Amino acid sequence: MSRLGRTVTVTAVPATGNRVWPANAQGLRWATVITRLSRLFLRTLRDDPADAEVPSHKLLVRAGYVRRIAPGVYSWLPLGLRVLHKVEEVVREEMNAIGAQEISLPALLPRDPYEATNRWTEYGDALFRLQDRKGADYLLGPTHEELFALTVKGEYNSYKDLPVTLYQIQAKYRDEERPRAGILRGREFIMKDSYSFDLDEDGLKASYNAHREAYQRIFDRLGVKYVIVAATSGAMGGSASEEFLADSPVGEDTYVVCRESGYAANVEAVVTAAPEPLPLEGQPEAQVHDTPDTPTIATLVDWANGAGIAERYGRPVTAADTLKNVMVKLRHPDGKTEIIGIGVPGDREVDDKRLGASVEPAEVELLTDADFAANPFLVKGYIGPKGLQANGIRYLVDPRVVSGTSWITGADAPGEHIVGLVAGRDFTPDGTIEAAQVRDGDISPDGRGPLVSARGIEIGHIFQLGYKYTDAFEVDVLGENGKPVRLVMGSYGVGVSRMVAVIAEQQHDDKGLRWPAEAAPYDLHVVIANKDEAARAGAEDVVSALNAQGLDVLFDDRTASPGVKFKDAELLGMPYVLVIGRGWAEGKVELRDRFTGETEDVPADSVVEVVLARVRG
Ligand code: ATP
Ligand code: MG
Repeated sequence: MSRLGRTVTVTAVPATGNRVWPANAQGLRWATVITRLSRLFLRTLRDDPADAEVPSHKLLVRAGYVRRIAPGVYSWLPLGLRVLHKVEEVVREEMNAIGAQEISLPALLPRDPYEATNRWTEYGDALFRLQDRKGADYLLGPTHEELFALTVKGEYNSYKDLPVTLYQIQAKYRDEERPRAGILRGREFIMKDSYSFDLDEDGLKASYNAHREAYQRIFDRLGVKYVIVAATSGAMGGSASEEFLADSPVGEDTYVVCRESGYAANVEAVVTAAPEPLPLEGQPEAQVHDTPDTPTIATLVDWANGAGIAERYGRPVTAADTLKNVMVKLRHPDGKTEIIGIGVPGDREVDDKRLGASVEPAEVELLTDADFAANPFLVKGYIGPKGLQANGIRYLVDPRVVSGTSWITGADAPGEHIVGLVAGRDFTPDGTIEAAQVRDGDISPDGRGPLVSARGIEIGHIFQLGYKYTDAFEVDVLGENGKPVRLVMGSYGVGVSRMVAVIAEQQHDDKGLRWPAEAAPYDLHVVIANKDEAARAGAEDVVSALNAQGLDVLFDDRTASPGVKFKDAELLGMPYVLVIGRGWAEGKVELRDRFTGETEDVPADSVVEVVLARVRG
């Protein structure tokens, strides 16, 4: 059993009889159901919704699982809600299994705790802020570190109470800049968030590892294909952090892996391997050159190779020999803006996401024409480190710009560049910044091989937060030696509603949705494809018998044509479809596996055994 203590056993699903779900927090369970399609609150759509781009969004809307209310705000209809509850249930079981305890905090929260940690401001535009009738400020919780820290402080005061992990499964609110892909990126969405409180760093590490393993079990049970990557900690604060990314070409996160060493990281978290510094002695003087019409890196490289600069290098000049200076405007949480210069080797672009992660909580804005007009030393296309630093602009460079490296860069005057500007001799940057793009083939930070990139959807995130929140609220308990001990905190999130979309995204085929057993709204979809009274009556008996064995059955008892029913069964995506059709008269039914597409003739008199064996496989 986990060291987190407070053993909670996962309720085993009985092999037969009253298998029931979902359990709610109190462990109450609802009975298994037979749902008749003739009565189900469901309308499937023939056409894709106009605003949908990714398959999961199209299919979840077409199959009547969710409906849009506003950008990033969705309703869950019966089938969708059953999937959501099943996903929740898997998450709940695995959280309970590591000794975490479920509570539920409000989503409507007062401003004060978030003011204490500065997140009222730092969270920026993504925070939904509102006022009550008396003018008091409130917010809709985007994540609840503050409230959990305060909750533990309110209840506990002795080391004997620790460690403790609390969690909730609840709606979160974030005014996302680009709500996207239906429930994949919502502005209201369901998250499981848990928070661990420990007496020391070793305890925190153990709580973190318990979560890491619980998350692996959750995603494995749900059949999600994923990778675990190193992450940045973003607006949460804190240090060690990893993300679980589901493989998907429509993912918004890019991660890299090194096949040789197993290193894997979100591109935002990739630490550039800096080369060794080079000696300054013996390097030729920097020289300013007239370089008319060379406002781009490509034109500059052409000029250098045509103007005999290549001789200085003993090889052709490439874009990597140039230093590109990109100007960005930072908006700090206090509202102040600052223009900074970023120097990157000219063969690389600045990656907006890496830049954004590096400057957080500040936000990045583009410079306006007015900014350029107000700072005449910023000569577009010819900006150099010297001009920036002479004018008090912070100048941060890519970690590859180490002391002794020599660059071709802007000379701060129209049509002029400087060749042989040496870092550490001719200019000293104000620091480094991880902002340059990471490319396939770049060497892994551990130096053991090249990086390859792929895309994923973030489904979970685990953080060793440290003391940020417990310091803010002075969350102390009395230690064994009578002295106060400040608690150390971790926070851990799973995108529960997002997971529904992720499963749909990874498992669908051209005919529709396909739910793995642990997420399926029903275990089995039974289709009557026969008008014959005996077959209909037989189908009723089969459905009752299967339900009595603990299966949830979606029963297509409608009078529609078999073709329409089969299409709907494929679209809705239960893992197995049992067809009671023409074969009934000869004592045969057909079982279809929605995943493999295989069909199997089953003798009517052994249908219950066979179906149970397949479904429980
Ligand atoms: P993202 O980078 O995708 O915006 P995040 O890093 O802001 O996510 P966390 O604060 O780590 O997200 O939240 C924990 C989990 O909640 C994420 O791993 C993700 O699965 C889920 N999640 C976050 N934002 C959303 C959203 N807008 N819609 C649905 N799920 C979300
Ligand atoms: Mg995250």
